[in-house]
Amino acid sequence: MAEPKDMWQCQTANCGYIYNPDKGDRKGKIPPGVKFEDLPEDWKCPVCGGRKAPFQKPCITKGGRIIGPLLLLHFLKPRYK
Ligand SMILES: [Zn+2]
Repeated sequence: MAEPKDMWQCQTANCGYIYNPDKGDRKGKIPPGVKFEDLPEDWKCPVCGGRKAPFQKPCITKGGRIIGPLLLLHFLKPRYK
């Protein structure tokens, strides 16, 4: 099974798609077991059509839960207005 560290998350606004090497990407004809690093350069996010470049490793809590950096940014936003 893929570790959370092997997963990559799309950082495009309103997307948040997570590439899981266990599943691959059926839409992009990527078979299960292909690492994100091994995806072709012209691979695109199956959700928003974005390129590989903005993908980042998601932040993982100690419990193994995935928190996207976008969500994290939301938490870190100042509370004042
Ligand atoms: Zn995306």
